[in-house]
Amino acid sequence: MSRNVGAVCRLCRREGEKLYLKGDRCYTSKCAVDRRSYPPGQHGQSRKKQSEYGMQLRMKQRLRRIYGVGERQLENYYNAATRKRGITGEVLIQLLESRLDNIIYRLGIGSSRAQARQLVMHGHITLNGHKVDIPSCQVKPGDVVAVRETSRNTPVIKTNIEDAAGRSIPEWLEFNSEKLEGQVKVLPHREQVDIPVEEHLIVEFYSR
Ligand code: SF4
Repeated sequence: MSRNVGAVCRLCRREGEKLYLKGDRCYTSKCAVDRRSYPPGQHGQSRKKQSEYGMQLRMKQRLRRIYGVGERQLENYYNAATRKRGITGEVLIQLLESRLDNIIYRLGIGSSRAQARQLVMHGHITLNGHKVDIPSCQVKPGDVVAVRETSRNTPVIKTNIEDAAGRSIPEWLEFNSEKLEGQVKVLPHREQVDIPVEEHLIVEFYSR
Protein backbone atom coordinates (compact mmCIF):
# COMPACT_ATOMS: atom_id res chain seq x y z
CA MET A 1 0.00 0.00 0.00
CA SER A 2 1.25 3.49 -0.74
CA ARG A 3 1.78 5.36 2.45
CA ASN A 4 2.27 9.07 2.89
CA VAL A 5 5.80 9.73 4.10
CA GLY A 6 5.72 13.52 3.72
CA ALA A 7 4.85 16.13 6.31
CA VAL A 8 1.82 14.69 8.07
CA CYS A 9 0.46 18.08 9.17
CA ARG A 10 0.05 19.07 5.51
CA LEU A 11 -2.67 16.43 5.28
CA CYS A 12 -4.67 18.13 8.02
CA ARG A 13 -4.14 21.54 6.47
CA ARG A 14 -5.28 20.18 3.09
CA GLU A 15 -8.51 18.96 4.73
CA GLY A 16 -8.93 22.13 6.79
CA GLU A 17 -9.46 19.99 9.89
CA LYS A 18 -7.45 18.58 12.74
CA LEU A 19 -7.19 14.87 11.94
CA TYR A 20 -5.05 14.04 15.00
CA LEU A 21 -2.39 12.18 13.07
CA LYS A 22 0.57 13.04 15.31
CA GLY A 23 -0.44 12.07 18.79
CA ASP A 24 0.30 14.46 21.64
CA ARG A 25 1.50 17.29 19.42
CA CYS A 26 -2.06 17.62 18.08
CA TYR A 27 -3.22 18.80 21.52
CA THR A 28 -0.59 21.55 21.79
CA SER A 29 -0.25 25.05 20.33
CA LYS A 30 2.25 23.55 17.83
CA CYS A 31 -0.62 22.11 15.77
CA ALA A 32 -0.20 23.36 12.21
CA VAL A 33 -3.97 23.72 11.64
CA ASP A 34 -4.24 26.05 14.63
CA ARG A 35 -1.29 28.11 13.40
CA ARG A 36 -2.09 28.15 9.66
CA SER A 37 -5.68 27.26 8.96
CA TYR A 38 -5.40 27.37 5.17
CA PRO A 39 -4.32 24.65 2.71
CA PRO A 40 -0.59 24.21 2.08
CA GLY A 41 1.18 25.30 -1.09
CA GLN A 42 1.54 28.44 -3.16
CA HIS A 43 -2.18 28.83 -3.82
CA GLY A 44 -3.31 27.65 -0.44
CA GLN A 45 -4.74 31.00 0.60
CA SER A 46 -6.77 31.65 -2.58
CA ARG A 47 -10.41 30.68 -2.10
CA LYS A 48 -11.90 28.24 -4.57
CA LYS A 49 -15.51 27.12 -4.77
CA GLN A 50 -15.68 23.35 -4.56
CA SER A 51 -17.80 21.28 -6.92
CA GLU A 52 -20.03 18.54 -5.57
CA TYR A 53 -17.56 15.97 -6.82
CA GLY A 54 -14.74 17.94 -5.20
CA MET A 55 -16.48 17.80 -1.82
CA GLN A 56 -17.09 14.06 -2.13
CA LEU A 57 -13.49 13.46 -3.13
CA ARG A 58 -12.12 15.55 -0.25
CA MET A 59 -14.31 13.72 2.26
CA LYS A 60 -13.13 10.36 0.96
CA GLN A 61 -9.51 11.51 1.24
CA ARG A 62 -10.15 12.79 4.73
CA LEU A 63 -11.47 9.41 5.87
CA ARG A 64 -8.53 7.65 4.26
CA ARG A 65 -6.07 9.91 6.02
CA ILE A 66 -7.68 9.61 9.41
CA TYR A 67 -7.39 5.81 9.39
CA GLY A 68 -4.17 5.69 7.33
CA VAL A 69 -5.55 3.34 4.68
CA GLY A 70 -4.81 3.20 0.96
CA GLU A 71 -7.19 3.86 -1.95
CA ARG A 72 -7.73 0.20 -2.70
CA GLN A 73 -8.15 -0.70 0.95
CA LEU A 74 -10.82 1.95 1.47
CA GLU A 75 -12.64 0.81 -1.64
CA ASN A 76 -12.56 -2.75 -0.27
CA TYR A 77 -14.00 -1.53 3.04
CA TYR A 78 -16.73 0.32 1.16
CA ASN A 79 -17.60 -2.78 -0.89
CA ALA A 80 -17.71 -4.86 2.28
CA ALA A 81 -19.98 -2.25 3.90
CA THR A 82 -22.45 -2.41 0.99
CA ARG A 83 -22.77 -6.18 1.50
CA LYS A 84 -23.59 -5.86 5.21
CA ARG A 85 -26.92 -4.95 6.77
CA GLY A 86 -27.32 -1.37 7.93
CA ILE A 87 -26.60 2.11 6.63
CA THR A 88 -23.58 1.81 4.35
CA GLY A 89 -21.79 4.93 5.62
CA GLU A 90 -22.15 3.87 9.24
CA VAL A 91 -21.09 0.31 8.55
CA LEU A 92 -18.05 1.66 6.69
CA ILE A 93 -17.00 3.60 9.77
CA GLN A 94 -17.64 0.59 12.02
CA LEU A 95 -15.35 -1.50 9.85
CA LEU A 96 -12.59 1.10 10.06
CA GLU A 97 -13.06 1.54 13.81
CA SER A 98 -12.75 -2.23 14.25
CA ARG A 99 -9.24 -2.32 12.82
CA LEU A 100 -6.74 -3.53 15.39
CA ASP A 101 -4.50 -0.45 15.01
CA ASN A 102 -7.48 1.83 15.63
CA ILE A 103 -8.49 -0.12 18.75
CA ILE A 104 -4.93 0.17 20.10
CA TYR A 105 -5.07 3.91 19.48
CA ARG A 106 -8.54 4.29 21.02
CA LEU A 107 -7.41 2.41 24.15
CA GLY A 108 -4.49 4.84 24.55
CA ILE A 109 -1.79 2.19 24.04
CA GLY A 110 -0.68 4.06 20.91
CA SER A 111 -0.57 7.87 20.84
CA SER A 112 -1.72 7.99 17.21
CA ARG A 113 -3.05 5.45 14.73
CA ALA A 114 0.30 5.52 12.93
CA GLN A 115 2.14 4.68 16.14
CA ALA A 116 -0.44 2.04 17.03
CA ARG A 117 0.15 0.44 13.63
CA GLN A 118 3.88 0.27 14.38
CA LEU A 119 3.28 -1.30 17.78
CA VAL A 120 1.18 -4.01 16.13
CA MET A 121 3.68 -4.60 13.33
CA HIS A 122 6.53 -4.89 15.81
CA GLY A 123 4.75 -7.69 17.65
CA HIS A 124 3.85 -5.87 20.89
CA ILE A 125 0.16 -6.77 20.77
CA THR A 126 -1.90 -9.90 21.27
CA LEU A 127 -5.45 -10.63 20.18
CA ASN A 128 -7.29 -13.22 22.28
CA GLY A 129 -3.94 -14.33 23.70
CA HIS A 130 -2.16 -14.78 20.38
CA LYS A 131 0.51 -12.47 19.00
CA VAL A 132 -0.76 -10.64 15.94
CA ASP A 133 1.18 -8.31 13.66
CA ILE A 134 -1.47 -7.31 11.13
CA PRO A 135 -2.75 -3.76 11.83
CA SER A 136 -5.82 -4.17 9.63
CA CYS A 137 -7.00 -7.25 11.55
CA GLN A 138 -10.70 -6.87 12.42
CA VAL A 139 -11.54 -6.96 16.13
CA LYS A 140 -15.01 -8.25 17.01
CA PRO A 141 -17.14 -7.59 20.09
CA GLY A 142 -15.87 -9.83 22.88
CA ASP A 143 -12.32 -9.98 21.53
CA VAL A 144 -9.55 -9.11 23.97
CA VAL A 145 -6.52 -7.10 22.85
CA ALA A 146 -3.53 -6.74 25.14
CA VAL A 147 0.06 -5.61 25.34
CA ARG A 148 2.30 -8.68 25.16
CA GLU A 149 3.80 -9.76 28.45
CA THR A 150 7.34 -9.11 27.17
CA SER A 151 6.41 -5.63 25.93
CA ARG A 152 4.81 -4.28 29.08
CA ASN A 153 7.89 -2.25 29.99
CA THR A 154 8.45 -0.82 26.53
CA PRO A 155 9.07 2.91 27.23
CA VAL A 156 6.78 4.24 24.51
CA ILE A 157 3.89 2.07 25.71
CA LYS A 158 4.43 3.05 29.35
CA THR A 159 4.50 6.75 28.41
CA ASN A 160 1.35 6.44 26.31
CA ILE A 161 -0.53 4.68 29.11
CA GLU A 162 0.54 7.35 31.61
CA ASP A 163 -0.46 10.17 29.25
CA ALA A 164 -3.82 8.56 28.51
CA ALA A 165 -4.61 7.94 32.18
CA GLY A 166 -6.63 11.15 32.55
CA ARG A 167 -8.52 10.73 29.29
CA SER A 168 -11.69 8.74 28.90
CA ILE A 169 -11.85 5.92 26.40
CA PRO A 170 -14.88 5.44 24.12
CA GLU A 171 -17.83 3.82 25.88
CA TRP A 172 -17.94 0.92 23.42
CA LEU A 173 -14.52 -0.20 24.68
CA GLU A 174 -13.20 -1.13 28.10
CA PHE A 175 -9.63 -1.06 29.32
CA ASN A 176 -7.83 -2.56 32.29
CA SER A 177 -4.75 -0.39 32.83
CA GLU A 178 -3.25 -2.89 35.31
CA LYS A 179 -3.37 -5.81 32.92
CA LEU A 180 -2.87 -3.57 29.87
CA GLU A 181 -5.73 -5.29 28.17
CA GLY A 182 -8.88 -4.05 26.54
CA GLN A 183 -12.06 -5.40 25.08
CA VAL A 184 -14.52 -4.34 22.42
CA LYS A 185 -17.91 -4.43 24.14
CA VAL A 186 -20.03 -3.60 21.10
CA LEU A 187 -19.53 -2.04 17.71
CA PRO A 188 -19.81 1.75 17.94
CA HIS A 189 -22.81 3.76 16.76
CA ARG A 190 -21.94 6.63 14.47
CA GLU A 191 -22.47 9.27 17.15
CA GLN A 192 -19.88 7.51 19.33
CA VAL A 193 -17.15 8.01 16.74
CA ASP A 194 -15.63 11.48 16.92
CA ILE A 195 -14.29 11.98 13.42
CA PRO A 196 -15.00 15.08 11.27
CA VAL A 197 -16.48 13.13 8.37
CA GLU A 198 -19.79 13.31 6.50
CA GLU A 199 -19.93 9.71 5.38
CA HIS A 200 -22.90 10.24 3.05
CA LEU A 201 -20.54 12.20 0.75
CA ILE A 202 -18.21 9.19 0.64
CA VAL A 203 -21.09 6.87 -0.21
CA GLU A 204 -22.07 9.30 -2.98
CA PHE A 205 -18.48 9.31 -4.22
CA TYR A 206 -18.36 5.52 -4.57
CA SER A 207 -21.92 5.31 -5.96
CA ARG A 208 -21.23 7.59 -8.93
FE1 SF4 B 1 -0.40 18.11 12.78
FE2 SF4 B 1 -1.90 16.85 14.62
FE3 SF4 B 1 -2.38 19.40 14.08
FE4 SF4 B 1 -2.95 17.50 12.28
S1 SF4 B 1 -3.93 17.78 14.27
S2 SF4 B 1 -1.95 19.48 11.90
S3 SF4 B 1 -1.28 16.05 12.62
S4 SF4 B 1 -0.48 18.56 14.95
